[in-house]
Amino acid sequence: MGKKLKIGIFKLSSCDGCQANFFDLPSLWEYCEVVHWLLGGWAGEPEDMDVAFVEGSVSIEEEAQKLRDIRERSQILVTIGACATSGGVQALRNFGDLRSFKEVYPNPEFIEVLEKSTPVKEHVRVDYEIFGCPINPRSLESFIKAILHNRRPEIPDYPLCMECKLRGNICVIDAYQIPCLGPVVRSGCGALCPSVKRGCYGCFGPCKGANIESLVSWFKGMGLSSEEVRELFRNENAYSESFRKVVEGDIG
Ligand code: SF4
Ligand code: SF4
Repeated sequence: MGKKLKIGIFKLSSCDGCQANFFDLPSLWEYCEVVHWLLGGWAGEPEDMDVAFVEGSVSIEEEAQKLRDIRERSQILVTIGACATSGGVQALRNFGDLRSFKEVYPNPEFIEVLEKSTPVKEHVRVDYEIFGCPINPRSLESFIKAILHNRRPEIPDYPLCMECKLRGNICVIDAYQIPCLGPVVRSGCGALCPSVKRGCYGCFGPCKGANIESLVSWFKGMGLSSEEVRELFRNENAYSESFRKVVEGDIG
């Protein structure tokens, strides 16, 4: 085995569900040296590294500073999960009035948050994005091995419908009139929900070239109201550029 890949795993505003996938890769330690990962017990100060994996969105100024520091110390910066790639559930607050949310706390003056909770790419240059809520451990492993062998990582950008077809699933929209975001959502989960006769609600975010207008008009044709359509897109990827257009009422 040649030189190990020096990696750091970092958390911003998130639930830890994506970085927990590193526990599913026991052979990782044969080819990676971890320089920082709080959840895994590496609490030392981050040093320079080959690859920084960043989970979570930027919700407070301290996170924005931390992120700039990570960017400076890493050759490659990879965002992992819906929080880091499109803002996650915490970005749902971007569609409301921040002050009214703070009022539920007894001392709102102690709460210091940025006006919006935003994806990492709005703050620093991002080299790769791994999608999902949470990400898929197999995709993570294949990504790390590609980097290790100086290959271009394969990150699917085609719609979830492709995975349904590969599994031989019956389309839940066509057969059962169940609203499903599969035609506009990125592959990566193996079409888990349609395989058990449920519609996809979008963990992997928009796929490349997602034709949102067309799917929204299809849903309307199925009898869904504008509010019902918006609700479908108001998920952990709601703040992604294309889903946001539906949530904000620009489409539908
Ligand atoms: S993307 Fe989902 S699983 Fe990953 S940290 Fe965010 S909320 Fe958790
Ligand atoms: S909601 Fe969609 S992306 Fe998420 S697990 Fe189900 S099928 Fe996959």
